[in-house]
Amino acid sequence: MSKISRSGTIFTVCLVAGFCRLTAGQAGAPSKPSVHWEELTAADFREGIHRSQGTCLLPFGILEKHGPHLPLGTDLLNVRYAALHATEHEYAIVFPEYYFGQIAEARHEPGTIAYSHDLQLALLQETTDEMARNGCKKIIIVNGHGGNESLLPYFAQTQLEKPHDYVVYIFDQRSPTTGGPPKKSSITNWHAGEDETSKMLIARPDTVHMERATSESGADQHRLNLPDGVYTGIWWYARWPNHYSGEGAAATEELGKFQMDWWVDAIANVIRAVKADDVSLKLQNEFYEKSKHPLETQP
Ligand SMILES: [Zn+2]
Repeated sequence: MSKISRSGTIFTVCLVAGFCRLTAGQAGAPSKPSVHWEELTAADFREGIHRSQGTCLLPFGILEKHGPHLPLGTDLLNVRYAALHATEHEYAIVFPEYYFGQIAEARHEPGTIAYSHDLQLALLQETTDEMARNGCKKIIIVNGHGGNESLLPYFAQTQLEKPHDYVVYIFDQRSPTTGGPPKKSSITNWHAGEDETSKMLIARPDTVHMERATSESGADQHRLNLPDGVYTGIWWYARWPNHYSGEGAAATEELGKFQMDWWVDAIANVIRAVKADDVSLKLQNEFYEKSKHPLETQP
């Protein structure tokens, strides 16, 4: 479902968030193709690829519990909101809803869809291969889900295994590190807490149940004490068994607007930088060629 693309919802989003998106076909709007892959005709898709210089976004969400007060699709809803608004500033084609990521640590919670790791990698590879076959030679994966933070760099590294005629870029920042309204909460705020809940007050306020935000604890429960530098898969569950890290009740629309504006601008800047990048593909090709005969690359 693309809420922002439904004409009835555009008006609502404009009122709530102070953002407005001009869509192709609106009276008085310039005739620019839609950014939504699934809304383009075949001929308009070709025009969109030309206009975007082959630059496409793959906003990456997930389906998992988000505390007691946010919807399962929070990461998908937030990242698509940010990505779709970024393309108003800098045109790129946006791939449809994608939520096939790493979320094994929330399998104990209702509504979590946790695909196996081999399927996650295979599906992502076939998706980017298919995008590239259709002209997306620069693919920006915009990550909306913290649990993908190891998967995505690993996926990017695996692109060196064999030649590809396209480049995968990953953008994995969702909140600015400084500035903005002072935070009200002082506890660790990593999942469904002050930041993420605030963004949802901008992206989809109709799905936020603020009155439930204190019905479970989002505090770190410190149930596992291992030395720094030691990693184990159960670490997240040990600290936040409710799959809730932070205080959603501290969220404000003001913080949400600041963070969402930052995210939209940041993604637009990434699109510009990627369009201007004429080095990565050249170096990839040089690397693929050399890796066919490593013994001859030494002076
Ligand atoms: Zn999230």
